[in-house]
Amino acid sequence: MKFCIKSWSKNSRARVGLLQLTSFRQPENKKKEIEIETPALVLTTRKGLPAFVSPDHLVALQFCGSTLLQFSPMHFMEGPNPKTISNIGGIHQLLGLKDYGFVSVPRDSILSLPESSSSNKHGASFETPCGRFLVKPVEYMKMISSMKPDLWVSLADEVPASATLKRNRASVERTIRWLDDCISLDTSVRRMGLKAMMICTVVTMYSPVTRKFHNYLSGLSQKLQHFLIEVLIPILLFLPCDGALFGSIVGGCSIEEREHCAQEVAKRNVAGYYIGGFGLGDSIDGRASLLHAVTDCLPNEKPRQICGLGLPEEVLQGVAAGIDLFDSTYIYQLTLGGFALTFPLDGKFNHVSDPKLTAMGGDRTKINLKATVYRKDASRIVDGCNCYTCQNHTKAYINHLLNVHEMLAPILLEM
Ligand SMILES: [Zn+2]
Repeated sequence: MKFCIKSWSKNSRARVGLLQLTSFRQPENKKKEIEIETPALVLTTRKGLPAFVSPDHLVALQFCGSTLLQFSPMHFMEGPNPKTISNIGGIHQLLGLKDYGFVSVPRDSILSLPESSSSNKHGASFETPCGRFLVKPVEYMKMISSMKPDLWVSLADEVPASATLKRNRASVERTIRWLDDCISLDTSVRRMGLKAMMICTVVTMYSPVTRKFHNYLSGLSQKLQHFLIEVLIPILLFLPCDGALFGSIVGGCSIEEREHCAQEVAKRNVAGYYIGGFGLGDSIDGRASLLHAVTDCLPNEKPRQICGLGLPEEVLQGVAAGIDLFDSTYIYQLTLGGFALTFPLDGKFNHVSDPKLTAMGGDRTKINLKATVYRKDASRIVDGCNCYTCQNHTKAYINHLLNVHEMLAPILLEM
C-alpha cells in the first residue's frame, strides 16, 4: 500500500491524497493495482456486497469514486468458515470481485455493532444478526489471514459516549494491547509462511522437473545460493499477498484518552490509522475537538480511516479534521425508508415552496417516494441526472414498486 498527499487545505486540516493498493489475486497470483483519490467513501456492505446492489451493478456506483468495499469478518460468523474462505482464495475470490479493494473492520454500523458491556480483557464483543460473539485477537487474526483483505483494522474495544472514565481507560489499554497481539500474530504467520515457502523451494529444487534450475544454482557461490533460497525467493513469493494493517484508536469522549491512544498507536509499525468509537451516542457538536486531538497526534504521511460518521455534514466535519476514508450508512438508511436524494447537482437550491417535499419526512435534499403524492407523478427524481434510475424511471413507478414491496425499488433507490 502506498499513500501520498497531493494538497492541503489552507483553512483546515483537510487534505487531498492518493491511496494505491497493490495485491496479488488468487488463484493465478495476478497483480492488481487499485488507485483511490482521497477523501473517499468506503462502501458499506453486508457480507461484502452493498445491501441492495448485485455485483454486476456495482460498476454503477463507481461514480462516487470508490472501488473500496468495507466488510466485517463478523458477517461470516455463520459460515462459510475461515478455512473454506482460505481454500477458495480469500474474500475477493469468494465474492468474485477481483477488481475491488476490500477493507476489513471489526465493527460496522449495521450488522456488527460493538457491545462494550460484554467485552472483557480477553476480547471484544459484537452484536450481530447471528447473535452476540466474543472475539479474541487470535480468532480475529485467523479470520483476517483467511480472508486476505487489502486493508484491515486491528481489534478494538469501542465504548459508547456514556462510558465511565474507568471503562474508557480500560478500552484504550485493551485496544493497544490487542494491536500488539495482532502485530505479533501477523508477524508469526509471516514467519511460518516464510518457513513453509523455504521448505517448498528446497523440495522443488530437488525434484527432477527443476533439475535444470538446480544445476544453475549449483554453479553459484554458496552465499548467493543461501540468499536466493532463504531470503529473496520466499519474500518475492509470500509478502505481496499481505494486507496493510490500520491501528485502531479509541478513547471515547475524553480528549486525554484519545491523545494517549493516538500517541501509542503512532509508535507502532502500522500502515495507517483507524479512528473508532464514533457513532455510538456521541454528539456532533463535541466531535471536532476529539477528531482534532487524534489527527494532531498522527503522522501526516499515513492514511486515516473512520467508522460511524453517517450524515453528510458529519463526513464533512471528518474531512476538515484530516481524515481520508469514511464509511456511511446514510444511503442505506434512506433507501430502507423509501427516500431518494434530490439535492441539485449544481448545489443551487430552488426555494420555490412545494408541499410535496415535506410529505413523509421529505425536505430540500430528499423526498419520500412512499408518499401518495407521487402515485401519479410522471417526472424524474432529479431532472438532468445521468444515473440509471433518473434516466429510466419515474417517481410514480418507484412509488408503485415501494407499495407492492418489489425488490427492484431499493435497488433503484440505492443506485
Ligand atoms: Zn439520478
